Amino acid sequence: MKRHIKDLAAWSIIILISVLLFMIYDQGRNDHYTEVDNHAPLPEKLDPLVAKKAEAFVKKAAEQGIDVAITETVRSVERQNELYKQGRSEGGNIVTYAKGGESYHNYGLAVDFALRNNDGDIIWDTAYDGNKSGKADWLEAAEIAKELGFEWGGDWNGFKDYPHLQMDYGLSIRQLNEGLRPSHNQSE
Ligand SMILES: [Zn+2]
Repeated sequence: MKRHIKDLAAWSIIILISVLLFMIYDQGRNDHYTEVDNHAPLPEKLDPLVAKKAEAFVKKAAEQGIDVAITETVRSVERQNELYKQGRSEGGNIVTYAKGGESYHNYGLAVDFALRNNDGDIIWDTAYDGNKSGKADWLEAAEIAKELGFEWGGDWNGFKDYPHLQMDYGLSIRQLNEGLRPSHNQSE
């Protein structure tokens, strides 16, 4: 009988600690994310922190003699669907595997970049070495972006999206679809 009570006490303590840990975890989660109505309109602007980091990216690249152009930022669901048609129901190469609502661009959490050559033309040449560092400018730029906290599409397995940079704040597309947003969107 005594043994039984001891076991019961031990289990009670374990359960109590688990509940406390979950509460702490859940509190942390709420600090990072905020929930909006999942029928709320998608953001029309870049996430403020992503915008700031994109600006820093262009500046830092310039310091290394690399002229980075941000070619895409936030994207509407309609535009994403148009891009999805490329290389499928329409001509050209496949440029995306995301339909409208499935891309971080739709949530203001991604930008695409390209380079400007010495003539000022926008180029997508990933081997171009305009600053004569011996390393492709594109890869140097991607390194800078990653140091700033971006995930680079060129690191993806399978389809590589070399111009693509995103910050997902640990949110999956599914969670974004369900209405979760990085919470600093609300405060800024
Ligand atoms: Zn992109």
